[in-house]
Amino acid sequence: MKEARNVESFSLDHTKVRAPYVRIAGNKNGPVGDTVTKFDVRFCQPNEEFMETGAIHTLEHLMAEYIRDELEGVIDLSPMGCRTGFYLSVFGSPEESYIAEKLRAVLVKVAAWPDSEDVPGVDPVMCGNWKDHDLEGARRWARLWVEGIDRKGWACF
Ligand code: ZN
Repeated sequence: MKEARNVESFSLDHTKVRAPYVRIAGNKNGPVGDTVTKFDVRFCQPNEEFMETGAIHTLEHLMAEYIRDELEGVIDLSPMGCRTGFYLSVFGSPEESYIAEKLRAVLVKVAAWPDSEDVPGVDPVMCGNWKDHDLEGARRWARLWVEGIDRKGWACF
């Protein structure tokens, strides 16, 4: 196994964490003094399950849109390549529990998303793969995240 030096996630033991969870994956101070914190927002137990591309894509559209209503200073929310969760980057140093509470509010909304309401950004102008969406899958993973966090808390271990 080649040693990895630059990517925080490569030094996380993915066999030890218990999904779903919220975990601080990094904290950086920029040259002009801003602090940026990156969160590992895990939905799936690593190496046991993963999200279908349509489901994670729809979840991304809904979370990226609505987390900004709940939380100040969101920089980015993006899916992980392994499709087991998302990275959320924000200005400042919020606690994991605070982020979990805000994400919970968004995911409760996503879990109850009505078929009659359009998912934001799903058309060929606003999205790069607009046909690859799965609202039913997004609702399912949102519900599983909320149920898991309510059962075990937001911590990763
Ligand atoms: Zn898209």
